Amino acid sequence: MLELPESTVLASQLEAALKEKQIVSVKANSSPHGFAFYSGDPQNYPEYLEGKQVSGVSALAGLIEMQLEEYRLVFGDGINLRYFSAEEKYPDKHQLMLQFSDGSVLVAAVQMYGGIWAFIEGSNDNPYYLAAKEKPSPLQAEFDRNYFTRLFYEADPKLSLKAFLATQQRIPGLGNGCLQDVLFCAKLHPKTKLSAINEEDVENLFCSLKQTLAKMTEQGGRNTEKDLFGKPGGYRTVLSKNTWKSPCPVCGGEIVKQPYMGGTIYFCSHCQPQV
Ligand SMILES: [Zn+2]
Repeated sequence: MLELPESTVLASQLEAALKEKQIVSVKANSSPHGFAFYSGDPQNYPEYLEGKQVSGVSALAGLIEMQLEEYRLVFGDGINLRYFSAEEKYPDKHQLMLQFSDGSVLVAAVQMYGGIWAFIEGSNDNPYYLAAKEKPSPLQAEFDRNYFTRLFYEADPKLSLKAFLATQQRIPGLGNGCLQDVLFCAKLHPKTKLSAINEEDVENLFCSLKQTLAKMTEQGGRNTEKDLFGKPGGYRTVLSKNTWKSPCPVCGGEIVKQPYMGGTIYFCSHCQPQV
């Protein structure tokens, strides 16, 4: 799943690859997928988007938004995006394909589930989209110590750290992937309740959140995800499906893998004791 570091990297790659290019052909829903969600009828997408020029691409938390004159095309965090030059062969199966005036192609394919929304700017009132657009991201300066402290103390103290960080769109773009390393660097356990941690822990969590996400972004996203050209990101995850069989890089202890709240968590019981 794309999270904030990867959507930021992808948006800048997309902008570099597509800016000023014109869309000449659109195919939507040519491989129907039970968990692909479109705004409106995808059969209308060619009419909406053909002939439009790409004026910019931005990341909205974990989402990607392309500016196409008066239209916006938004890809959710479960969408794989790949770019192919005119000479390259692109996959036949996809949920959206855009072909540009120079023959290059952008292919969007749903991983497990994902949303694709094409709409006139200002007309999308999906709460997920609006939260992603309006709330500050940890990569921005407005997401400062005061903002984070307020989020923390306004949340239900019975929540676990994972629930606090990755649910309710509290921090859009932060999900179950990035939070593993955020908590590892803060030496906090994903199941620890908010009520159980002290002020110093809250400060450590804030610093880890800002620094870990910035580092992931600077290094081209996590190595568990792929970029616009199918290349894994340069950030080496500390805790992920790629690393959990290796010893903890700090203490050499065993990394524990557990299902928790609809996703897998990884932690070192020694470095991140549950309190
Ligand atoms: Zn450890």
